[in-house]
Amino acid sequence: MHEYLHTLEHPCLSLATGKSTVVREGFCEYLTLQVITKLAAMDADGQDMLALQHQIEGADLPSWKHNGTIKDYQAPGDYAGHVERVRQVVALIGDNGVKAAFFQGHLEFLNLYQSGTPMKPLPAGGTWMRAPEEYPLEDLLRVTGCSQAELAVENPQLEKLPPADFLPIEPLSIQGYRTHLVAGAWHDDHPDAAETWEQIAHQNGTTPDVVKKLNPARTGEPPSFRHVLVPEV
Ligand SMILES: [Zn+2]
Repeated sequence: MHEYLHTLEHPCLSLATGKSTVVREGFCEYLTLQVITKLAAMDADGQDMLALQHQIEGADLPSWKHNGTIKDYQAPGDYAGHVERVRQVVALIGDNGVKAAFFQGHLEFLNLYQSGTPMKPLPAGGTWMRAPEEYPLEDLLRVTGCSQAELAVENPQLEKLPPADFLPIEPLSIQGYRTHLVAGAWHDDHPDAAETWEQIAHQNGTTPDVVKKLNPARTGEPPSFRHVLVPEV
């Protein structure tokens, strides 16, 4: 299970974290523990396991006999320490944040650019997001329904309101919204392999139409490694 999960890691994660052992093995083993614990709670000969098997493999194939599950699996050796570090990350960004970083390359949850450069951290508490790049302020006010006065009250860190054209690349607070990093290709040979509007919408529990309306200046396909505005789920 551990080795299989390695194959599902998004390549951006290990590139951005300098092939860190804690990240590579810790994230993988943290997820391995979740899968094995879930399987161990199932009755190996019962309907739960069969239903899961059918869900993954399809019900039309002959079922294989399950050999039972490990009931008391623990992270082996050094991995236990790596998993402990990952649990500290989970306490900060949540289980979904770790999964978004691992499976989908959403490094914004780890405050990292794809180069490994740290992003300016978002302030603790409140509903902070990063301003999407090249996003006109007037668009932001229009699509969120937030007024200039409300923006000023919610963002006392802005000494004056940003100019009407582009937002500063600073943390902003606007209730009900967050910014989504468009996870892109990791390899120069595939510069266009970024997430689609459909994938972005699906990951954020909404429709492509809603996401496109929130990003009126982004015509065409989503730009890799840039931020787009999405509803906070
Ligand atoms: Zn491993």
